[in-house]
Amino acid sequence: MTFTTRFAPSPTGYLHRGNAFSALTAFRAAHAAGGRFILRIEDIDATRCRPQYEAAIYEDLAWLGLTWETPVRRQSEHLADYHLALARLRERGLAYRCFRTRREILEAIGQAPHGLPPPFRGAPLAPGEEQTRLAAGEAFAWRLHLDAARAELGPAWDRLSFVEEGEEAQRADPLPAGDIVLARKDIGVAYHLAVVVDDALQGITHVIRGEDLREATPIQRLLQTLLDLPAPTYRHHRLLAGPDGRRLAKRDKAETLRELRARGVSAEALRLELTV
Ligand code: GLU
Repeated sequence: MTFTTRFAPSPTGYLHRGNAFSALTAFRAAHAAGGRFILRIEDIDATRCRPQYEAAIYEDLAWLGLTWETPVRRQSEHLADYHLALARLRERGLAYRCFRTRREILEAIGQAPHGLPPPFRGAPLAPGEEQTRLAAGEAFAWRLHLDAARAELGPAWDRLSFVEEGEEAQRADPLPAGDIVLARKDIGVAYHLAVVVDDALQGITHVIRGEDLREATPIQRLLQTLLDLPAPTYRHHRLLAGPDGRRLAKRDKAETLRELRARGVSAEALRLELTV
């Protein structure tokens, strides 16, 4: 199988050095392996994605010296693929409609005295109540029913695992993720399902992405297993920190590649700086 990896940005802002590092890490790995590098635009959330950010992704990556296969897959153009995957889970009773509002979810999980709130776990509504709510036109999300998934997998549940490149296989425990949303109320699809469907459709053998997404891996391995999709090898790379020591993030207004470029930083200098 040809080594195939991807960089999968969401066009919700301009790329910063951290994103450039991710893209370069994947691109270099593909190059070193004589493999394929794929760029995928994760634009399912139309409320946050903007065409100018997508255009800037192509421009910034080309400036950085990257090349990628075309046509580029834009998730917003492939919703039917995600709906099909959802249907496969639904027909086996592995997904349920969740009518709760964000606030009701927060109330249901409660706030742990220390640290993060526990993951949300729910169950399908009684058919009568579900019918009433559907008839009333109430919006709902589809959630993965972990209890049903566990029952379906039986002993295979405890064997769920993933391979971080160069390491022994490690256990993938999906429980900390909770009953994740498979399809959001507003857009009818959600991140984890779209990613696993696309990684499989695009023949991704190596998922290379930032350490911040390591926690997404166990639940994605579960979805791959339930949907009978191949298991990629993973490489979660370090995250770049800003001057304040915190990791670079779009929402914190990290300096963008266009700003770097405008103040005269060359692509070559940046590529040198962003070595593993
Ligand atoms: N679209 C995701 C992001 O921008 C990356 C998804 C992935 O690499 O699995 O954070």
